[in-house]
Amino acid sequence: MTRCESVVGRDRVFREPADVVGYHDAFSVLSDDPHIPSAAVAPADIDELQAVVIAANEHKIPLWPISKGQNLGYGGAAPVLKGAVIIDLSRLNRILEVNEKYAYCEIEPGVGFFELHRYLEDNDIDLWMSVPGYAMGSVMGNALERGAGAQPYGDHAAQICGMEVMLANGEIVRTGTGAMSNSTTWHTEKFGFGPSWDGMFCQSNFGIVTKVGLWLMPAPEATMSAVLSFSEEKDLATAIDSLYPLKRQGLIEHNIAVLSYVGLASYTAPRSRWYRGEGVMPEEIGAKLRAELGLGWWTSFLTLYGYADVIEAQAKKITELLQDSIAPPTFNRWKKGDPMEFSGAGIPSARDIQMINWRGGRGGHLGFSPLLPADGRLAYEQYQRARDSFHEVGLDYYGAFAIRDRSIININEILYNRDDRAMCEGVQQLFPRLIKEAAAHGYSEYRTHIDYMDAVVDTLDHNQHAMARLNHAVKDTLDPQGILAPGKQGIWPARYRHKS
Ligand code: ADP
Repeated sequence: MTRCESVVGRDRVFREPADVVGYHDAFSVLSDDPHIPSAAVAPADIDELQAVVIAANEHKIPLWPISKGQNLGYGGAAPVLKGAVIIDLSRLNRILEVNEKYAYCEIEPGVGFFELHRYLEDNDIDLWMSVPGYAMGSVMGNALERGAGAQPYGDHAAQICGMEVMLANGEIVRTGTGAMSNSTTWHTEKFGFGPSWDGMFCQSNFGIVTKVGLWLMPAPEATMSAVLSFSEEKDLATAIDSLYPLKRQGLIEHNIAVLSYVGLASYTAPRSRWYRGEGVMPEEIGAKLRAELGLGWWTSFLTLYGYADVIEAQAKKITELLQDSIAPPTFNRWKKGDPMEFSGAGIPSARDIQMINWRGGRGGHLGFSPLLPADGRLAYEQYQRARDSFHEVGLDYYGAFAIRDRSIININEILYNRDDRAMCEGVQQLFPRLIKEAAAHGYSEYRTHIDYMDAVVDTLDHNQHAMARLNHAVKDTLDPQGILAPGKQGIWPARYRHKS
């Protein structure tokens, strides 16, 4: 730590508990949190970062790199391994390039959604972003974790094109065509010569990403948006079977989320506005709430983006295709120059985090996120199982089924009051059960909280966990001292493996 202080300065090494608390998992349900970091170090640039990484290698100090540390619901800034030192990259926050012609940006880890959005606006750049529901985090950290937004470029990891990565020994490598020092296509061509490594640094602990190229969406001249409301719980199957073909045929470009009403209600007020009792909110109260807020049991949002005449034709086709299964959508039209709030563009906001207030007290949420085929019956069955498990521990069900090109990411948000010990214990019983139930049906997870990374890896059992062996072989080769994010994604350096 003294060596770190001489590299980054004393005021950029945080060791006091009052400072380190900012890097804890603020939503932890555990009374004795096993993910408390020992310190945090905030380098100002790549050279300082490199000096810190080299020192950590010499002293075998485990590090946990974060961009802005807003990975809420999955652990926030906190490390898997207790005592790891947080490498806070939020000071590396330059927007290095925005290229309008080729529609990409090159950014450092500390660039947030708000900063990039402001930059595009201030510079009149005709490119749109995709943003997650809670957008206080970094563009890079969210993409590396494969976060998602509701816009056409909403599969954030898929927009990555060319990275700069610092390996555990301090070496810097550029992926894709960036391997050539005077490359002219680093952020425009995803595949260069030889293996492609961008994916290797997403949801892994194989390197620290110091720069990333990300594709942005050329602004459309017009959009058309509709809200679809499904009144019954069982309508989930119809919703998915009607909407998935629109996605598969390319009529809708964004991932189509079908959201349960508790989530949408939680963005507006705590549950106590409708119900002050213990346990699960009764269905008759839910019905009153839906009537008051004008919500269905499930709600979905569609937006078409592009040339006005083209999207008019798409809207007509969509209405025709949906006519036998659901009420015809009413589209609102937006054109360039109209107020942006009605455009369907990704505008950063922190709205969704209000969900943590649902049960009162010091709230929290935990995301359980299995992947399923895009099929209505299978989604409805998965919903029923998850709902029953939520109800068994007295929690209201809140889930979203995001229809992607071929599959669904089903994000179940477990909302709780951290001041209620019994509720926190219920959450601890619920989570492993959800993982097990989903795995029994062949559903693995898209992302998970730091408490459950090993449990999820346990479900990846093909050929006696061959994937874990591959990950460990890569880890041992790239990071033989085991300093980078031990335990992340269940990948443990050799020196910790017997303990995991
Ligand atoms: P955000 O603030 O965008 O929500 P975080 O900074 O919390 O994202 O990062 C989410 C996770 O992604 C971190 O816990 C870490 O494991 C990983 N991560 C973030 N930034 C980097 C990076 N630059 N290099 C390697 N891993 C990173």
